[in-house]
Amino acid sequence: MSNDESLPAFTLFGLDDAENYGLVTEADNSLPLDIHNQVFQLVEKGNQAFNESRFEEAISCYSKAYSIKPLDPTVLSNRSAAYIRYGQYLKQRSSSISEYRPLNGFDMSMLGELALKDADKLMNLQSSSVKTYTIKACALILLERYEVARDTILSGLQLDPFSDPLRSNLQELEKVLPTSMIKTYEKAERSDEFDCTVCLKLLYEPITTPCGHTFCRSCLFQSMDRGNKCPLCRTVIFMTPRTCAVSVTLNNIIQKNFPEEYAERKSEQDTLVHLGNESMPLFVMDVIIPCQKLSLHIFEPRYRLMVRRIMEGNHRMGMVALDSATGSPVDVACEVEITECDPLPDGRFVLELESHRRCRIVKAWDQDGYRVAEVEWVADIPPQSDQEKADLRELTSSAASFARSWLERAQEAARQGDRRRLEVLLNVESMIPTPQDPERFSFWLATLTDRRPSERLELLRLQDTGERIRRGLIYLRSVERGCRMQ
Ligand SMILES: [Zn+2]
Ligand SMILES: [Zn+2]
Repeated sequence: MSNDESLPAFTLFGLDDAENYGLVTEADNSLPLDIHNQVFQLVEKGNQAFNESRFEEAISCYSKAYSIKPLDPTVLSNRSAAYIRYGQYLKQRSSSISEYRPLNGFDMSMLGELALKDADKLMNLQSSSVKTYTIKACALILLERYEVARDTILSGLQLDPFSDPLRSNLQELEKVLPTSMIKTYEKAERSDEFDCTVCLKLLYEPITTPCGHTFCRSCLFQSMDRGNKCPLCRTVIFMTPRTCAVSVTLNNIIQKNFPEEYAERKSEQDTLVHLGNESMPLFVMDVIIPCQKLSLHIFEPRYRLMVRRIMEGNHRMGMVALDSATGSPVDVACEVEITECDPLPDGRFVLELESHRRCRIVKAWDQDGYRVAEVEWVADIPPQSDQEKADLRELTSSAASFARSWLERAQEAARQGDRRRLEVLLNVESMIPTPQDPERFSFWLATLTDRRPSERLELLRLQDTGERIRRGLIYLRSVERGCRMQ
């Protein structure tokens, strides 16, 4: 046996207390009551010895109990723990004490084997108890079979990713397991234990539900968009992406153990979230022009999924109207930024949006029920000659001062009692662009009055800033004359 210095100083977790022997249950009534009492007393006596670190005595009590009632989980669990604690004690004993008080019969590896034997029997009886995995892992650590110990801990963590003893023992193990050993182990041990039952792929950002099932975060919430039930056992669950966290330990275990597959899952997820500058998801609803502020309620499952992905990415999407003649979206859209996203407890979202720039849809496809488009950004054709440039500047500045006085008069009128209208006008005022950007200004000018979708679509398609400003001025004057062009 190796000497003390060469042994890693292991602290084992989860073996501090012996379990109490339960009262007689109905399932147990095959045994006469007096036999039960005998077992009960032996376990009690053993537990007392265990708690006072008299492990030999504890083992002897548990063994007597075992001979009366074979395969009792409590007895097996306590005896295995006692073997381990005793083995650990012997391991930590300095050599001088060993010489002074020679061992009587037991040696460390024998204790380890006995503990493992009990742990294996226990595993057959109650494989769904985290304690079973803790005991088996500790027995394996005592036997210095570190890789199998680690495997056992990982299986246990599948049951309860938050188990303190398992996590602490894993940390201890990782101190002694050389990385090269972990590497060879990783390649060999990819079972479907780490698969998500929804997408059947390696768990990515796993979340464990209150009913104990684990799914990829995106899979769970995608499934919950269609009803708040666990996708596996149909238990009703109350969770929202906001109130629950990814299981960090399990995620780390997966990332460390299957680095290549994890990276693949990550890039898969990233391509859904980060579409790049030339692509964006589409919200099909209405014609939006740049420089608008609006709110939106999202309740359809496909759009909830889309909004979650958008919020993980650049907060942008395209808004586009449906062409009633063809039934498909029109070819021009407007990019909007989600400036606020309030998830409601029932899974819906309330969004605040600001519209930015126009684009033409080059190509669109379906992704998980919503549309994604490849787009081409559209801008006005700038004036060519110096004269044209000067004309546009002149037009912009006179339109700007007209718009400002128009807005003041309209706000004044709304203050007399139309709160709703005043709110709209204040919103419009907050979006006023700088005078150096005539194109944005021309769109802003058009937002001062309510326009029909067909008119907005024309404004989007126009590539002549001056023409758009002139139309904006016509709209304003007609409203002021009291004949709103609706
Ligand atoms: Zn999944
Ligand atoms: Zn479930």
